[in-house]
Amino acid sequence: MGWFRYHLVMPLKHPPSHVSSGQAEESASHLRQCDIAVVGGGIVGKACALGLAQLGFDVVQIAPDLDRITPIPTGDTWAQRIYALSPGTRNVLQDLQVWEAIDQTRLQVVRDMRIFGDRGESTDALHLSAFEAGAPQLAWIGESDLIEGTLDQACRFQTKLARIAGSLDNFFIGPEGVLLEISSTHAPVRLKAKLVIAADGARSPMRSMLDIKTSAQSYEQHAVVLNCVCSHPHLETASQWFLPGGDIVAMLPLPGKGVSMVWSTSSENATRLLSLDTDAWQAEFATMHDGSIAKTLGKVVPHSTAASFPLRLIRAERLIGPSLDPKVVLIGDAAHVMHPLAGQGLNLGMRDVAALLRVIQEKESFRAIYDPVLLRRYERARQGDTATILWVTDRLKKLFTSDNPLEKKLRNWGLGLVNRSHLIKRHLIKEALGEVS
Ligand SMILES: Cc1cc2nc3c(=O)[nH]c(=O)nc-3n(C[C@H](O)[C@H](O)[C@H](O)COP(=O)(O)OP(=O)(O)OC[C@H]3O[C@@H](n4cnc5c(N)ncnc54)[C@H](O)[C@@H]3O)c2cc1C
Repeated sequence: MGWFRYHLVMPLKHPPSHVSSGQAEESASHLRQCDIAVVGGGIVGKACALGLAQLGFDVVQIAPDLDRITPIPTGDTWAQRIYALSPGTRNVLQDLQVWEAIDQTRLQVVRDMRIFGDRGESTDALHLSAFEAGAPQLAWIGESDLIEGTLDQACRFQTKLARIAGSLDNFFIGPEGVLLEISSTHAPVRLKAKLVIAADGARSPMRSMLDIKTSAQSYEQHAVVLNCVCSHPHLETASQWFLPGGDIVAMLPLPGKGVSMVWSTSSENATRLLSLDTDAWQAEFATMHDGSIAKTLGKVVPHSTAASFPLRLIRAERLIGPSLDPKVVLIGDAAHVMHPLAGQGLNLGMRDVAALLRVIQEKESFRAIYDPVLLRRYERARQGDTATILWVTDRLKKLFTSDNPLEKKLRNWGLGLVNRSHLIKRHLIKEALGEVS
């Protein structure tokens, strides 16, 4: 079916003046076609595009920087973005045959997590251990570029997957698919897809163009990230300190004596932190949380430049759109954004990928891939998990930044209480593992 027969139910933005229906007809032969278009080139989009191509669909991925392969980091410096990867994410990457290709020497296994309250009392602490939960590990810490670069290599060899380095400007939805208008680095491209996956990040232009409502709030905080080297062994432990005043400092272990800091703080303090030199950072670490960080990690010395990211909560009310005749599916940060205190944003996105691939793989042979029944199955499968993780993370963030003396007492007392309950800890670890069945 050609473009000219397309019944444009819903122009989501006005077509650019140079695209009249006559011109569309004329250039119909230049129209590219595919089964599924994936918009977005982050880890979630790349994993999803690869997985769909591996299922045998003709997939086209679109994102501005897809004409370059992310260089896989080497040497003893660490790329700026570091993630805690759950066993659920490992499973998704394993199914894509990517996990084994990742340079495992650059991944750090996490076997313990320690969380410290903000009163400075030794009893206000929670210790979660893989050993206690009967799991080999709780998570891995690795560089974003390590995962992205390895995914890029796998994508290059996938013949069912094409890539367009460009930006989606506009799209139109008809009964049998979506017409995408893309401004690429070479020439504008028009692409017809039966289904579109929006993995276009927290600001998701597709989500806005579809007018999907979101609940969103700014945390009025920034996360400052910095890679460091510490003098004490980190003992494969991820540590997190809640500081009086609402700041949260996480120290994630890296191979050797590396640690990656994520410090959630006010915008003003983030600006101050970004201007610190090496000596000033060392002084910060030495005194922070009454010396508790120094006691745990010894002398902590910066090994990268610091960067900062604004923190917010976004939850899309629908994961598919438009509501009447859905042809677009939201995944990753396009569907949900959360505070990094639990290190779960990417992991949740990878669970979206797993759920979508499962729904499509298990579809009845008589259903088209854009069948609303299928898309609703995906939405139903993801709504519960997403709502729970966003709610729990938001509650924890608010509980630990509250000035209310009762809440202050409760949160610190709660850490100790949970620490004494083997049953609750096992449950918490099970949730944190995020295993995809
Ligand atoms: C400080 C910090 C620490 C974090 N730590 C962790 C952690 O430890 N563990 C964890 O699981 N998560 C963590 N997260 C969350 C994690 O960073 C995100 O959830 C994850 O990167 C989202 O990936 P994504 O692929 O959905 O989106 P993104 O990586 O944002 O990718 C979006 C893509 O869409 C493309 N795009 C946008 N608009 C268009 C358009 N019009 N046309 C085409 N392409 C477009 C962009 O170019 C980009 O390629 C952390 C977040 C922060 C801020």
